Amino acid sequence: MELIKTFQSLHILRLSYGEELREQLEKFCADNNIGAAWINAIGATKELEIGVYNLKEKKYDTKVFSEMLEITSVIGDMSIKDGKPFLHAHGTFSRPSMEVVGGHIMRCVTSATLEILLNKIEGSMERQHDEFSGLHLLCKD
Ligand code: ZN
Repeated sequence: MELIKTFQSLHILRLSYGEELREQLEKFCADNNIGAAWINAIGATKELEIGVYNLKEKKYDTKVFSEMLEITSVIGDMSIKDGKPFLHAHGTFSRPSMEVVGGHIMRCVTSATLEILLNKIEGSMERQHDEFSGLHLLCKD
């Protein structure tokens, strides 16, 4: 991952072939002491795992796509879960046929490029386990 530009709280980052989105962003935030951020990204992926949350079973139903896809839009937030940066991101991805798939991002491996806008927020946001949903939800300080 390369830090291309920083302007005030905005960081423009670029991922190269084979680099994974969650892993790289969580590492960048850990290394730079970022505890809260808003994220947007576009690019292309060659390996993708996305899911939809099954509230009844309290788990994600996931699907893997091992094909070249355009990343038409990724949006997400960075917060702190169990003391470490945690990315929560959703995305839409298009096939050569222009059909779109989308969902909660488990894993997204870069093919040609992945361009990220990370908007750092001062301080940190925490996640805590929620009984009803079974998820770690954002919480007030
Ligand atoms: Zn989600």
